[in-house]
Amino acid sequence: AVPLVVAVSTSLSAGNGLLIRDRAAFERARNLNAVVFDKTGTLTEGRFGVSDIVLLGDGEENAELAFAAAAESQSEHPIAHGIVAEAKDRGLSWPKASEVRNITGEGIVANVDGEDIRIVSPGHLARTGDEISDPRLRQLESQGKTVVVLVRGGVPRALFALADIVRPESKRAIAELKALGVESIMLTGDAHGVAQAVSEELGISEYFAEVLPNEKSEKIEELQSRGLAVAMVGDGVNDAPALVVADLGIAIGAGTDVAVESADIVLVRSDPSDVVAILGLSRATYRKMV
Ligand code: ADP
Ligand code: MG
Repeated sequence: AVPLVVAVSTSLSAGNGLLIRDRAAFERARNLNAVVFDKTGTLTEGRFGVSDIVLLGDGEENAELAFAAAAESQSEHPIAHGIVAEAKDRGLSWPKASEVRNITGEGIVANVDGEDIRIVSPGHLARTGDEISDPRLRQLESQGKTVVVLVRGGVPRALFALADIVRPESKRAIAELKALGVESIMLTGDAHGVAQAVSEELGISEYFAEVLPNEKSEKIEELQSRGLAVAMVGDGVNDAPALVVADLGIAIGAGTDVAVESADIVLVRSDPSDVVAILGLSRATYRKMV
C-alpha cells in the first residue's frame, strides 16, 4: 500500500507541476548534495538567434550565411534553427544540400553546390587540427555566445555567434539550492568560455564544458565517485543516459520524449526552480514518516 503521506505529496506535487515517475528516486531527493544542470534548453531557453557574423577571409556575409543555411535547414538542432531563421530574415535563398550528416554534439557536414561544407564547434575543429586563432572567437564566447565555424572547401570562412536566453528562473533556483546546502554544476557540449560566462551570470561555481554526448553520463559517475548524491536536470536526447545514471533524473517537460522517458521526475512547467520544490517536498514528506 502507498503510505498516506506519500500519496498526499504526490498529488500535491501534481498540483505543483511535478510528475513523479519513480517514487524511490523522489525519496532520495532529500539527501542530494549536488544538482547538475544541462545548459542549453535547461538553464537557457534553447532558442538561438544569430548575433554576430565574423568573416575569416574576403568572403561576403550573406553568401556564407546562405551556405550555412543550406546545410542547417536539414538539421533539427536549435543552432540550426537560429541560422536558418537569420538567413530567412535577410531574404536569402539557397540550394538543397546533399550528403548531409550530423556529427552529434559537434556539428553538421554536407555538400552544397558541389562544395564540402562543415558547420562545427571550434573545439571540434581544434581536435581535427584547425585551431581558430582569430581573437574575436574568445571575445564572443566570453560574452556567453555560442560560436560555430563554417568551413567551406576545407577553409574556415566565417564564425556565427548565437545568443540564447538564460531562463529568468535559473538564477533563483541556484541561489535557493545553495541556501539548502546543495551545489549546482553546469554540464554542456558548448565551449569553456561560454560555460564560464553563463555560470558566472548564474552563480554556478563548477562546470563541465565541451562534453560530448556520450560523455555526459561519465561526468555524473565522476561526481558520484566523489561520494556525492547527484541529481541531473536535462531536456535533450543527449541527456538521457545521464538522467538514468544520476541518483535522481529530472527532465524538463518541454524536452524530448527520450529525456522524459529516462527521467524519475518531469518538470511540467520547464522551470528550473521547481527542482527546489522537489527537494523541499521530499524532505517534508519523508520527515513525517520517521
Ligand atoms: P548542449 O550540450 O549545450 O545541449 P549539444 O551537445 O547539442 O549542446 O552541442 C554541442 C555543440 O556542438 C554546440 O555548441 C555546437 O558548437 C555544436 N553543434 C551541434 N549541432 C550543431 C549544428 N547542427 N550546427 C552547428 N553546430 C552544432
Ligand atoms: Mg540541452
